[in-house]
Parts: sequence; structure tokens; C-alpha cells
Amino acid sequence: MVNKIKVKLLNFSENSLYIIYSSFRQCYSSLSADEIYKKCLKEKDIKKYKEFIKNILSCGHESPLEHVSFTFSISGVSRALTHQLVRHRIASYSQQSQRYVKMDNFKYIIPPSISKHKKIKKEFKSFMEEIKRKYEWFIKELESLGKHGEEVYQDARYILPQAVETKIVVTMNCRELLHFFKERCCNRAQWEIRQLAYKMLKICKEKLPVVFEKAGPKCISLGYCPESRRFSCGKFPIKEEVVKGV
Ligand SMILES: Cc1cc2nc3c(=O)[nH]c(=O)nc-3n(C[C@H](O)[C@H](O)[C@H](O)COP(=O)(O)OP(=O)(O)OC[C@H]3O[C@@H](n4cnc5c(N)ncnc54)[C@H](O)[C@@H]3O)c2cc1C
Repeated sequence: MVNKIKVKLLNFSENSLYIIYSSFRQCYSSLSADEIYKKCLKEKDIKKYKEFIKNILSCGHESPLEHVSFTFSISGVSRALTHQLVRHRIASYSQQSQRYVKMDNFKYIIPPSISKHKKIKKEFKSFMEEIKRKYEWFIKELESLGKHGEEVYQDARYILPQAVETKIVVTMNCRELLHFFKERCCNRAQWEIRQLAYKMLKICKEKLPVVFEKAGPKCISLGYCPESRRFSCGKFPIKEEVVKGV
């Protein structure tokens, strides 16, 4: 059993600031991005690049952010979470396979609403153990029919729950990350993907504060909540209230 999300940064270019700056400048310069980049390496005028990037970002010119990506190794999350995660299409994913990896004695995530109640948690765990036994049973039965390896696992997995722990590698560029944080740091997002989003955001802020310092749920950048009253968490006024000035 696990419910500790682990997020490790696998890859990120240390020269990202120069890459973003050169890509921005490319739009307005007679020089090539490669020449601008070389100048950056020589000058190392970090303050200038940061100011420039901040100004451009405030006008919504975001495409140069697509040239810098973060690659994360994520584990200790449920299949329910990764099902939501992979809906974000502007990203690359490599996930642990339930066809090739035998899921016997699988770990699973217990939602906090369940784990804080002794009786409900006990029932949840006992059901997980029951699924494990059934999974083993199906594997044995299918093997006795002469099937093996992924031929067996790929069909036995149909009885696995969404709580099963999984591991996934995710690469997102900065522009997509900003969008991802807007959607998934929001209190409307489910607790698990929200926890993941905040862990990723913490890393992004440490590595590239100029891009991510104001990142987070939509209300942070807008100053109001774009959700309807029914779905808003109530921490910010909703759009309608802002428009009416109430
Ligand atoms: C709180 C919450 C509840 C949700 N509930 C449900 C639900 O009940 N059912 C459900 O099915 N999904 C649900 N979703 C998932 C949601 O519909 C999106 O699939 C998910 O958030 C991915 O975001 P996205 O499509 O904006 O962006 P991404 O796939 O991350 O893409 C980023 C942006 O690129 C652009 N883009 C990407 N692909 C295209 C395209 N093909 N055409 C045009 N523009 C494109 C869009 O501007 C998009 O916003 C929910 C999401 C959240 C945050």
C-alpha cells in the first residue's frame, strides 16, 4: 500500500533561460536564434533576459516557452490519476505496462476520505486483498490453458481497480505546464492530481522562476474564479461578481 506521490525531475536544460530568450528575440531580430544564444552564453546577463521574458509573457506571447521542457518521473500515484493526466495532449508519456508487468501483490492508493475512517478503510483494504487473490486465480487458470507472460497479464488486468499504483514518465513544455497548473492546481481538480500538480509546480518554480513564479490555478492569474458559483471553491469572487462589481 502507498499513498506518497514521488516526483523526480529527470531532465531539464540548465540553459533554458537562454533558449527562451533567443526564441523570443528570434521573432524581432535579424540575427539567428543560434547567434543570439551564443551571445547569451558570452554575456550571461541573466537579469536582462529575465526582465525581457517577464515583459513578453505579460502580453501573452507564449510560443517561445514551448522550446523548453521538463521531464518528470512520477510514482506512487493511482491509475485513476494517470487516466486524468494523459488527457493533457500536449505532452509525452511512458507508463508502466500492466501487459508486461505482473501486478501480483500490487500497491494501491487509498483516498484520504476513506483512510481517515477506520471501518471504511478496513473494508477498502480487504476488497483490495480480495482482488489480489482473484487476479492470482485468473493468472493460474489462464496459465493452465497454456498461455503465458503478457498473454495472461493483459487479460487478467481487466479486474484490477483504478486504485492500483502506477509509474509514469511525463515530458511537458513550459507552455503546457502553465496550462496544466491552471487546470490541476485548482480546488476543483481531484485531490490526487492536485497534489501531483503542486509537486511539479514546486520543481518548476525552483528551476525557472521567471516563467513559473505566478503559475498556479486560474484564479491566481485572473484575480477571480472562472468557474460557476456551483463549482467555485469560494476563495475568489466569481467572474459574474467581478463584472457586476459586487
Ligand atoms: C476539474 C476538471 C474536471 C474534468 N472533468 C471531466 C469530465 O467529467 N469528463 C471528461 O471527459 N473530461 C474531464 N476533464 C478533462 C478535460 O476535459 C480535459 O480533457 C483536460 O483537462 C485536458 O485539458 P485540455 O483539453 O484543456 O488541454 P491539453 O490537452 O492539455 O491541451 C492544451 C491546450 O491545447 C489546445 N488543444 C489541444 N488539443 C487541441 C485540439 N485537438 N483542438 C484544439 N485545441 C487543442 C487547447 O487550447 C487546450 O486547452 C476535467 C478536467 C478538469 C480539470
